[in-house]
Amino acid sequence: MRELEESVPAEDVLEEELIAFAAFALTHAACCDVVEVRVGERCIIEWCPSCRSLRTFVSPGQ
Ligand SMILES: [Zn+2]
Repeated sequence: MRELEESVPAEDVLEEELIAFAAFALTHAACCDVVEVRVGERCIIEWCPSCRSLRTFVSPGQ
């Protein structure tokens, strides 16, 4: 019985992040070069110069 241990299961967070990441990449695929900066092991910052859109993604652990 481990219910209510975490409000959101890690797998769901992972899936949302992956979808958000894919959505960002697809949305800005037609723009110019999207800048991707990896900060640490798990954090990735995506920057689209054309849209001036910035998003931070947290990649899953191993
Ligand atoms: Zn863009």
